Amino acid sequence: MNSFKEQVRLLQNQATAKDWRRLLTLRYPTPRWLYTAYLGSLTWKEKRAKRLEFDDHKCQGCTLMGFLDVHHKTYKNIGDENVAEDLVSLCRNCHKATHAGETLLLDEIAAIIRDDSVAVQIPPTVPDYATLK
Ligand SMILES: [Zn+2]
Ligand SMILES: [Zn+2]
Repeated sequence: MNSFKEQVRLLQNQATAKDWRRLLTLRYPTPRWLYTAYLGSLTWKEKRAKRLEFDDHKCQGCTLMGFLDVHHKTYKNIGDENVAEDLVSLCRNCHKATHAGETLLLDEIAAIIRDDSVAVQIPPTVPDYATLK
């Protein structure tokens, strides 16, 4: 009989995106170990690499290059994510800020420029003009 660790490794190497989709949505909340196993899977590593390439290895919050996380903009397709729509590359700082709802991503800015009907959700902070140089 395989140990739990060995079973997880098998899963990480063999489960397809469709398998992960089913596994990760079987129960709510998703067991943490399963989500962690997913982040160590070949399926995720491939998607992660694709998204980093898609973003030119630049943080989509501040354009910094270097160590980047790949963040889920949405969990709606968890396990079988759409690389172009559901994921985004972020540096650690922007990743933290995104989880705190404190950043605007480049694609969000682009969407606002394309579509001026996008609702403004946060009232603008009026700068103190006296202190601007
Ligand atoms: Zn950043
Ligand atoms: Zn994230």
